[in-house]
Amino acid sequence: MKYPKLRELKEAIRALITGPCTINFPKIPRPAPANFRGAPRFDPDGCVACGACVQVCPANDLTLIDDVKERKRRIVLDISGCIFCGQCEACCTTGTGIKLTTEYDLATLDRTKSLEEVEKELLICDGCGAIITTVDHVRWIAERLGEKAYANPTLMLCALKDLSLIDEDRPPPAKGYSRADRIRILCPRCRREVTLVEDYA
Ligand code: SF4
Ligand code: SF4
Repeated sequence: MKYPKLRELKEAIRALITGPCTINFPKIPRPAPANFRGAPRFDPDGCVACGACVQVCPANDLTLIDDVKERKRRIVLDISGCIFCGQCEACCTTGTGIKLTTEYDLATLDRTKSLEEVEKELLICDGCGAIITTVDHVRWIAERLGEKAYANPTLMLCALKDLSLIDEDRPPPAKGYSRADRIRILCPRCRREVTLVEDYA
C-alpha cells in the first residue's frame, strides 16, 4: 500500500508543476482525426432529394416528406439519432449529396438544432398527378445520359425547362390520352398508356 500512495503523491506534485494531463475541452476545441466519422451534413447543391439515403439509414434517422400541393420534397436529418455508420454517404446517388464530417461536439439542449434538411421541387405526372421524383433528380439523370436523354420525353422536357421552352401551364389531357400527349411529363404508368393507346387500341 505504501508504494501506490507514493506514486499518487509523485503524480500530484508533477501535475502541480506541469499542469493536468487532460485537455481543457470544450473550452479549447480538439480537432478529430481526418478519418473520424462525425455528423453527416447535406450539400444542397449535390443532393437531388432522390431518397436513397432514407432507405438505407439503419437508424431511421432520415425522413422523406412530400408535399404534393406545394410541389416540395424535404429530406430531414436528425443528427441526435445518428449512429455515424456512413451508409448515407456510401449509398448517395450523386456521391456528393451527404458527407460525414469530423464534427463530434454535438450536444445541445435545443433538439431543433440537431435537425438539418434539404428541400427540392417535386416532379408531378401531368396525367395522373403521381409523384415521379424531384426535378433535380431527373435533371441529374439527363445530364449523365447526355444526348440519350432525348429518347425519353420526361427527361428531355426537364432538361429543356432550364431554357424556358416548356409551357408550364399546359392543361392535363381532357379525356383519355392521344398521340400528342407523348410529349409530356408523365409517370411510367401514364407513359405506357399513352404509348399503347394508339399503337394497340
Ligand atoms: S450516418 Fe448512418 S445513421 Fe447517420 S444518417 Fe447516415 S445512414 Fe443514418
Ligand atoms: S442525392 Fe444523396 S443525399 Fe440526396 S437524397 Fe439522394 S441519396 Fe440522399
